[in-house]
Amino acid sequence: MKILLVEDSATLRHAMAQYVREAGHSPLLARSGEEALQLLESTPVELIIMDVEMPGLNGFETTRLIREWLGDHWIPIIFVTGKSEDESYREGIEAGGDDYLIKPVSSVIIKAKIRAMARIAEMRDQLNQLNAELEALSQVDSLTQALNRRTFNDQAQQHWRLAKRRQTPTSVLMIDVDHFKPYNDHYGHPAGDRCLKAITDTLQNCLHRPADLLGRYGGEEFVVLLPETDRNGTRSVASKALEAVRQLALEHKYSSAGPRVTVSIGGATCNHPFGHDLEELIKCADRALYKAKHAGRDRALVEELAAHRTVLIGASCSDMMQEISATLRDHCNLLTADKEDECLDIAREVLPDLIILDNDMVNRERGALSDSLTQHPLTCAIPVLVLMTEGRESGTPFLPQSSHARNWVSERFHPEELCAQVQRLLD
Ligand code: GH3
Ligand code: MG
Ligand code: MG
Ligand code: MG
Repeated sequence: MKILLVEDSATLRHAMAQYVREAGHSPLLARSGEEALQLLESTPVELIIMDVEMPGLNGFETTRLIREWLGDHWIPIIFVTGKSEDESYREGIEAGGDDYLIKPVSSVIIKAKIRAMARIAEMRDQLNQLNAELEALSQVDSLTQALNRRTFNDQAQQHWRLAKRRQTPTSVLMIDVDHFKPYNDHYGHPAGDRCLKAITDTLQNCLHRPADLLGRYGGEEFVVLLPETDRNGTRSVASKALEAVRQLALEHKYSSAGPRVTVSIGGATCNHPFGHDLEELIKCADRALYKAKHAGRDRALVEELAAHRTVLIGASCSDMMQEISATLRDHCNLLTADKEDECLDIAREVLPDLIILDNDMVNRERGALSDSLTQHPLTCAIPVLVLMTEGRESGTPFLPQSSHARNWVSERFHPEELCAQVQRLLD
């Protein structure tokens, strides 16, 4: 073990270092609390023996800092001190010490204490390892070793958030074994299990990117997340998976899809994760799977998630209208109005998910339009995003006193800035 000795007295430091060496460990020496902290930053140690009375940081203060810095990672700390009062003992243990020895300490005692602490540290290591194994086990399905549904969902959500931030296409595949019930009924449940395991390994082999995720979604149903993958890429992965399962050539005499075990695959691609959520994408893939089953099984169908959020743009300036439309076209269904009345009519009729108004529309007649929108029961819940004329950001003269008034971007917006605001309001 590497043992850090913190002791301001040179004589004691060297005597203690000698004991540590005799016990078969290697000492690391610090003359003060400050030096101990510095050393710890660069050198991992397994035990600390700490003096209490030292110039600068004393042993208790140093220990508190070490405990704070190490957080959950526990290193045994033993105080060796001349302070023999009960109160000092209490303070040492409170500060994070694990043992408290009164000077002078014999070499026999110090070696015995090191042994005892080493034993506890070893148990801690074993416990940490078991915990890590347990955590890994709880993330995968025990039969197939694919991610279980919960873990798949957690990890897929993380990728989805990233895809939203980067606006990258993302796809999902739902894969279901064809006529698996008759397979089980005729070949037996253990054979069914082996078949599922073989299919999992085969599917895993079709995924080459480190970020691709394979999960077991239900009994004989699998789910795959393909980050940064467009529809073509998704089709290609799906047909590879389809073919690889065929190539497994597992006999299945009771399938209408052919003499071998096959799968059906439904895929969905979201090109602009804007205003969509992962559940929608999975549902879309599920619908595609349903279609693949009904079209005869042993096939893959990949669909594209359509933009479904509707944004109404009310802008009297046509350049502005064009600029906003160009920025949002790929992400949402757009409706446009260049007059207040028209804007109000469309809003009440269509109930868009978001209304974007340019500065001019908002300011006409002292904010009459935004007042009408926010006061009408049909449209009051629709968020309104306002494009503010440069230089007037601090004052929002004619905006109604509602929470909507805080939603604005500058008229000279950056496309990403507008996208980010729109996404925030649509989510
Ligand atoms: P389809 O082509 O429409 O998907 O038909 P299917 O028979 O595969 O679908 P169904 O949902 O009717 O049956 C799924 C069967 O999968 C039910 C059960 O026997 C089997 N199954 C589910 N989980 C397991 C499992 O862990 N091990 C085994 N051996 N079989 C399973
Ligand atoms: Mg001292
Ligand atoms: Mg099935
Ligand atoms: Mg099924």
